[in-house]
Amino acid sequence: MKTLGYYNGRIGELDEMMIPMNDRVCYFGDGVYEAAVARNYKIFALEDHLDRFYNSASLLSIEIPCTREELASILDEMVHKMDYDEQFVYWQVTRGTAPRTHEFPAGDVKANLWITIKPSKPVHLETPLKLITIPDTRFFHCNIKTLNLLPNVMAAEQAKRAGCQECVFHRGDRVTECAHSNVSILKDGTFRTAPTDELILPGITRKHLIQICKDHNIPVSEEPFTIQELMEADEILVSSTTKFCSSVSEVDGIAVGGKAPELMKLLQDCYVQKYLSETKA
Ligand code: PLP
Repeated sequence: MKTLGYYNGRIGELDEMMIPMNDRVCYFGDGVYEAAVARNYKIFALEDHLDRFYNSASLLSIEIPCTREELASILDEMVHKMDYDEQFVYWQVTRGTAPRTHEFPAGDVKANLWITIKPSKPVHLETPLKLITIPDTRFFHCNIKTLNLLPNVMAAEQAKRAGCQECVFHRGDRVTECAHSNVSILKDGTFRTAPTDELILPGITRKHLIQICKDHNIPVSEEPFTIQELMEADEILVSSTTKFCSSVSEVDGIAVGGKAPELMKLLQDCYVQKYLSETKA
């Protein structure tokens, strides 16, 4: 298949799939999701994604309609249906299908499982990103990977219109994260990244970068940092499943980073190496 859509066991090309209007995702975005990449038909960091998926669902009292092992096996089966081996693998669970009421549907309404797969885009780590800063007006549940992404969508579009690839959210002076990535900095040899409280998504790439730092005796600080510290950092790193670990050359049109290129390259190389070795044929 060229693209794949899965809805509660029904499978087809994405464009041909239909879902019921009363799926609570249509009214409330009532669900949680995960996004991963696959290479050689292996989903990278699958266990981390499953951990976060079941945790996000449980924080919203959504019961995923299959066990973790069953879900892993469905995902594996779907990935193998594709015509190419580098894939963007997305899945979500929504609270179920029922007439619109804010309260959870009464009775025995089962959650809906969705999967979509399409070709993944190549990552260009050699090209640094340009960012803009935007006040973080999101809610206080950013640790849950919910489908309620409107502020992120608005911010991503604003960044695109400014000729940038991402935006840095901040609450007052404190940097939180980006619209669809985490942001960290390198300063005086230390990897600094915001703590995983309810203001940021606990990124899986961020977690892997922390582990890489620990393996290389690079000090890590998980304390909040400010916009000024971001602007004065030796390097700025934007991390996500699809962007890996990109460096940054500009924030709000001002040149930034570029002062610790060897350390930056070490982190990028180690991350790419981990990805290649864990997805080798
Ligand atoms: N923060 C937000 C808001 C995101 O949407 C994402 C990824 O989609 C991330 C951070 C990075 O998370 P991960 O590294 O698990 O892809």
